[in-house]
Amino acid sequence: MNAADLPAREAMEFDVVVVGAGPAGLAAAIKLKQIAPDTSVVVVEKGSEVGAHILSGAVIDPIGLDRLLPDWRNDETPVRTPVTSDRFYVLGPAGAARLPNFALPPLMSNHGNFIVSLGDVCRYLGHKAEALGVEIYPGFAAAELLFEGDAVAGVATGDMGVGKDGEQKSGFTRGMELRAKYTLLAEGARGSLSKQLIARFGLAQDRQPQKYGIGLKELWQVTPENFHSGLVQHTMGWPLANNVGGGSFLYHFGDHLVSVGFVVHLNYSNPYLSPFEEFQRFKTHPLVRNTFAGGKRICYGARALTEGGWQSVPKLVFPGGALIGCAAGFMNVPRIKGSHNAMLSGIMAAEKVAAALSAGRAHDELLDYEAAWRSSPIGHDLWRVRNAKPLWSKLGTLAGVTLGGFDMWTNTLGFSLLGTLGHGKPDFAALKPADRCRPIPYPKPDGKLTFDRLSSVYLSNTNHEEDQPVHLVVRDLALQKSSEHDVYAGPSARYCPAGVYEWVEEAGKPRYVINAQNCVHCKTCDIKDPNQNIDWVPPEGGGGPNYPNM
Ligand SMILES: Cc1cc2nc3c(=O)[nH]c(=O)nc-3n(C[C@H](O)[C@H](O)[C@H](O)COP(=O)(O)OP(=O)(O)OC[C@H]3O[C@@H](n4cnc5c(N)ncnc54)[C@H](O)[C@@H]3O)c2cc1C
Ligand code: SF4
Repeated sequence: MNAADLPAREAMEFDVVVVGAGPAGLAAAIKLKQIAPDTSVVVVEKGSEVGAHILSGAVIDPIGLDRLLPDWRNDETPVRTPVTSDRFYVLGPAGAARLPNFALPPLMSNHGNFIVSLGDVCRYLGHKAEALGVEIYPGFAAAELLFEGDAVAGVATGDMGVGKDGEQKSGFTRGMELRAKYTLLAEGARGSLSKQLIARFGLAQDRQPQKYGIGLKELWQVTPENFHSGLVQHTMGWPLANNVGGGSFLYHFGDHLVSVGFVVHLNYSNPYLSPFEEFQRFKTHPLVRNTFAGGKRICYGARALTEGGWQSVPKLVFPGGALIGCAAGFMNVPRIKGSHNAMLSGIMAAEKVAAALSAGRAHDELLDYEAAWRSSPIGHDLWRVRNAKPLWSKLGTLAGVTLGGFDMWTNTLGFSLLGTLGHGKPDFAALKPADRCRPIPYPKPDGKLTFDRLSSVYLSNTNHEEDQPVHLVVRDLALQKSSEHDVYAGPSARYCPAGVYEWVEEAGKPRYVINAQNCVHCKTCDIKDPNQNIDWVPPEGGGGPNYPNM
């Protein structure tokens, strides 16, 4: 279908367009309306409803909520389970050693934090935003950036009703142009438009490469005897080898719910590693397996998270807008927390946008947002932990985490002996050729405590219109065969948590199969493909997981 032959798109004008209804985008929208109720603000969200694509732990630091909605504690909210107990373990294959809480730097404490479903928190924020007059359009993916000269001037939502072959089907509807004086990108980790913008405006120049992890999560309803409301438990070590970063979380909250999850840092080198299988194996450890006895797994999903922190945050502003939340990389890795910084950055950007609008400005750079973040609470949060991830990557789990803990302690006291360490290579460049690595034998799932990918994806309620162009765009199929398959033994079949990629033998030749309808939008393929040969682009709006409360 030739773009020139298409009917023109309808356009709507706003003061501010926000891409993504996560904590960052919704906080920005709410703050804008609080400051200047007449500002017109629209939020586009690719999930079928607000919260449908949100996957997090989540233990939240309420600093963001306190700033945004100081009275939230008097509201009926989904923030109801305070943390009552906080445990950290190092696991071996059969045993576990608990680290005493006093040995952990104070910034790691969860005292005063809450265990939530972040999806439900976003639904609550969505209602607040709508009550203030924000227009929220769920089911619409921002597929294209609009420009006026060199400045971003809004986004266009994707066309609906395009077939697999790229041709219009009956019911074809052209996307909408949402034009704005300022555009805030709140797409979360590895946003598809954010990636284009960072490249176009060179926003990551002079920064360390962004680092990522993949987080896999299941939600269980457990029996009353296995439920301990407010318990927060983290582990590192087994089943991961010492040279693979990552760890687990286990949070008890709500009505006998346990969020169990596993994060694997995406700079692992063995292409045979499977984050999904490591997660399943983790659940069999004697420390945790009994939690799930007699319980029921009710949901599954996965999502990438940013891990580069202070050194990797790109320049935040470009003509006509800014990056906020995890699209900017404001995740604090040792704390496994990013939602508070997502909200704080949304608030800060909104304040700068409101000031610019009231001064009659449009489409320029919000330079005071860029200038402010490093000395704000976000900068303070990320600065103290800036060496934790580089040390973990360089020295492995035991030595790296020990030294990283020591550095966090000294930073808490106001100094560091290490300065600011770099991250080295981007994650995709960390894979070694398969002939230099050993295959990892993973146990078969038992269907009770451990599961396979497909029955897991079923619990993510993922749904895509099947007759649409594949939204996982392989730039060069021949390279995928000659390198991803022949050199790296097809790691996409293992790192994808949803079984989207398969190499199947056909007439003695490998063929790359992409089951795009299973994609849970975690973005790992876009990050980890060794040749950066896969581009994740938004599918038709509303497609993807439908997480009820992740
Ligand atoms: C496994 C895991 C565990 C975590 N645990 C915690 C924790 O315990 N505590 C904590 O504070 N943080 C935790 N985090 C981090 C936290 O979830 C993030 O920091 C936070 O969600 C970032 O908020 P955001 O608004 O920037 O992005 P997101 O929450 O990712 O939201 C982005 C939204 O934008 C939408 N979107 C993206 N692209 C488009 C587009 N082109 N068009 C339309 N919509 C789009 C998405 O569908 C999504 O709804 C965890 C993350 C993971 C993955
Ligand atoms: S196809 Fe990519 S984005 Fe989708 S689930 Fe698999 S790894 Fe994640």
